Amino acid sequence: MTVVTRFAPSPTGFLHIGGARTALYNWLYAKHTGGKFLLRIEDTDRERSTPEAVEAIFDGLNWLGLTADEEPTFQFARRDRHAEVALELIKAGKAYYCYCSPEELQEMREKARSEGQPMKYNGTWRDRDPSDAPQGVKPVVRLKAPQDGDAVISDQVQGDVRVANDQLDDYVILRGDGTPTYMLSVVVDDHDMGITHVIRGDDHLTNAFRQKALYDAMGWVVPTFAHIPLIHGPDGAKLSKRHGALGVEAYRDEMGFLPEAVNNYLLRLGWGHGDEEIISQEQAIEWFDVKDVGKGASRFDFAKLTNLNGVYLRQADDERLANDIAPRIAKQIGVDAIDAAQKEILIKGMSGLKERAKTLIELAESSVFYVTDGVTSFNEKAQSLIDGAPEGLFAELAKELDTLEIWTEENVDASVRNIAEKLDLKLGKVAQPLRAVLTGSNSSPGIFDVMIVLGKSQTLKRIRKFDAQ
Ligand code: GLU
Repeated sequence: MTVVTRFAPSPTGFLHIGGARTALYNWLYAKHTGGKFLLRIEDTDRERSTPEAVEAIFDGLNWLGLTADEEPTFQFARRDRHAEVALELIKAGKAYYCYCSPEELQEMREKARSEGQPMKYNGTWRDRDPSDAPQGVKPVVRLKAPQDGDAVISDQVQGDVRVANDQLDDYVILRGDGTPTYMLSVVVDDHDMGITHVIRGDDHLTNAFRQKALYDAMGWVVPTFAHIPLIHGPDGAKLSKRHGALGVEAYRDEMGFLPEAVNNYLLRLGWGHGDEEIISQEQAIEWFDVKDVGKGASRFDFAKLTNLNGVYLRQADDERLANDIAPRIAKQIGVDAIDAAQKEILIKGMSGLKERAKTLIELAESSVFYVTDGVTSFNEKAQSLIDGAPEGLFAELAKELDTLEIWTEENVDASVRNIAEKLDLKLGKVAQPLRAVLTGSNSSPGIFDVMIVLGKSQTLKRIRKFDAQ
């Protein structure tokens, strides 16, 4: 059997981080088993579904590299097929028309409430003769659900879960206006798409029992279910915006995370492979099995994600990172785009820069000094290092460094050390003010690395700005 999984978001908002993890688990399980991963946009709620949300879902999945193996299915476009199945069930005697009036339903609701029970349809029209049907009422279609015994779902994550059938009622599959309900659409689509494994949030576990009744009524094979626990905030409460229940684009744009770090983090939220923390995509594909996902809710931890992102930044290719931060830098220095020379310098400086940053935001901020002509702003500590520099230090540095014919790290290192010796200063007393004039900051990549990346003339230009001091 070829495994076919799917991710079935409703496009009523952004692709949030919990949805991204569901998509990741489905994607990984398909890859792990050599199967297929499909995407279905559940856009049947016409009021709340928007094209922008559909775009945001595609965009977020693409960014994470979780692309589907086939063109996406749009659920609303398949509504005729869903209705057709409801009518088939009627013909087979597995579903029936229900003509209950809103008042009758309200009565059932109130009765249930007074007994402290959830609303259950009382089966009025289950066996009633359709010739009793009142005039002018558009009936809904209800599934004839089993009434005795238990329904059991062997969930890959939750284990065997059992519900007494008398707890479930004959629910509506087709509304009075002929439109399918969510429950019907999901089952028909999963069946028609050949889905073998339904991996989704455990908030859908109760739906699974209702859906199973529908598969059984159609004589269709019930897929394997895996209901994964939801993600909670660090305080144990359901993940809210405050905790990071944001769209994945916020993780990319506002927080500056790399997709591989987000994937690695989400993967480990609820699943693990021994003590491994850094798991490459290849390893994840090899090791991931949905049955190993834990039953307990996991807690989202920004600090962990940020640290992990730092690890991935250090591993990332320099040119790619330069490209990643280029738009941010352009924005910071007020240009449309940085030029080729600026890009080049970023690439050159990247190995030193990426050691010190945990996000692309930090990386971009700490890189700006490389691409400007001269330093455009000095932080407070840099300013005080400059103000407190030994007299004549910058003039001495400019003079000595200017004599260097070959601008190598070795040579600038030797020159700076010479000056320190000549002025009877510790190396730090020279290097720190030098860092301040070259970078505008008191922390930066190694000072000799900075000098090489800036080049001789830009280095001298920046020092000379202070050589009268
Ligand atoms: N559209 C549902 C949701 O976004 C998912 C349905 C399913 O996975 O079966 O929560």
